[in-house]
Amino acid sequence: MSDEEEQRRDLAHRERARKHKAAVDAKIAAATRDKGLLLVLTGNGKGKSSSAFGMVARTLGYGRKAAVFQFIKGADEVGERAFFSRHPDVIWEKCGEGFTWETQDRQRDIAAARAGWEKAAAALAEPTVSLVVLDELTYPITYGYLEIDLVLAALAARPPMQHVVITGRSAHDRLIEAADTVSAIRDVKHAFRDGVRAQEGIDR
Ligand code: ATP
Ligand code: MG
Repeated sequence: MSDEEEQRRDLAHRERARKHKAAVDAKIAAATRDKGLLLVLTGNGKGKSSSAFGMVARTLGYGRKAAVFQFIKGADEVGERAFFSRHPDVIWEKCGEGFTWETQDRQRDIAAARAGWEKAAAALAEPTVSLVVLDELTYPITYGYLEIDLVLAALAARPPMQHVVITGRSAHDRLIEAADTVSAIRDVKHAFRDGVRAQEGIDR
């Protein structure tokens, strides 16, 4: 490529970058509100719960408090629990007996989900808790163990600056409707289908 052609490309690049920066800056300047957010992380791909725990880390980094309620899949010992449950600013509750196909006891799962929800509802009424993670909450709602109206009412009545992250596949339409931010993580590939078991630090 000739020097002139290189220079022409550099100039064009600079002009495109300038326009892009002006557009981004204008959008940033227009976003001036603060608000307690409801996030729903759903879809079949890997990365929902681990993203929620990333936000727990961010919250603690500001010296704020976080509460995590693990619905359904609470029986396994996982790295995030070992790490965060020792932290003085974290409330960590296991609200499930394990996967439903493991317990094979519907009434026990219903009782565990409802007892877990009572604890979560207390955190949703507590303004000193900056972030509430309701991990795998989509399942007890889908199975009909928890009333969607009950859940939505507690979310609507929470302190105005409190953030909530709900994870799990197949989020209820009304949960998606109520949320401020929704991500559906797409399953493109997963090593499990290649015969790789859950790896510590990555999957658990
Ligand atoms: P993570 O906790 O790793 O962020 P997740 O919350 O998105 O995962 P879950 O459905 O809660 O996904 O499942 C948790 C476990 O199942 C993890 O070990 C994860 O790697 C694994 N997993 C997640 N998605 C898939 C998938 N599509 N196929 C196989 N295993 C999966
Ligand atoms: Mg998960």
